[in-house]
Amino acid sequence: MTQQKPGGFIRMTNQRRVIIDVLKSTDCHPTAEWVFEQVREKLPSVSLGTVYSNLRRLVDQGEVRELYCDATQCRYDGNTSNHAHFVCRECGAVLDLPLQEHEKLIAEVESLGFQVYSQCLQFYGICHSCQSKESSLASAEA
Ligand code: ZN
Ligand code: MN
Repeated sequence: MTQQKPGGFIRMTNQRRVIIDVLKSTDCHPTAEWVFEQVREKLPSVSLGTVYSNLRRLVDQGEVRELYCDATQCRYDGNTSNHAHFVCRECGAVLDLPLQEHEKLIAEVESLGFQVYSQCLQFYGICHSCQSKESSLASAEA
């Protein structure tokens, strides 16, 4: 089996499976560069460009969610269930927010006559660990 095409096809699907595995095994909502570093440990010959195009395809197929948390770079989420995110302005962490009212919000938009394909709900502020750092800093200064 030295034919180019079948080998290429198998390699492609294998790369996509590895990318999905990487994204499903973390809740850190990584950048493409982070995904690339993880994938490279399993597939040393993979390129950043290939990871980008595979991520693009996985997003198009609805297997992965793309998050626009800030203007600089996209983040990726292997959890495609409906959930919101909290973006920390101090440390940059992107945390899952499984809001009880999330489905109701979608239903409310649909009740206005819109067909909802997807949603992207983000809150910005300071996360738990950065708040406790700030309060310990404040008590150290006092
Ligand atoms: Zn933080
Ligand atoms: Mn998430």
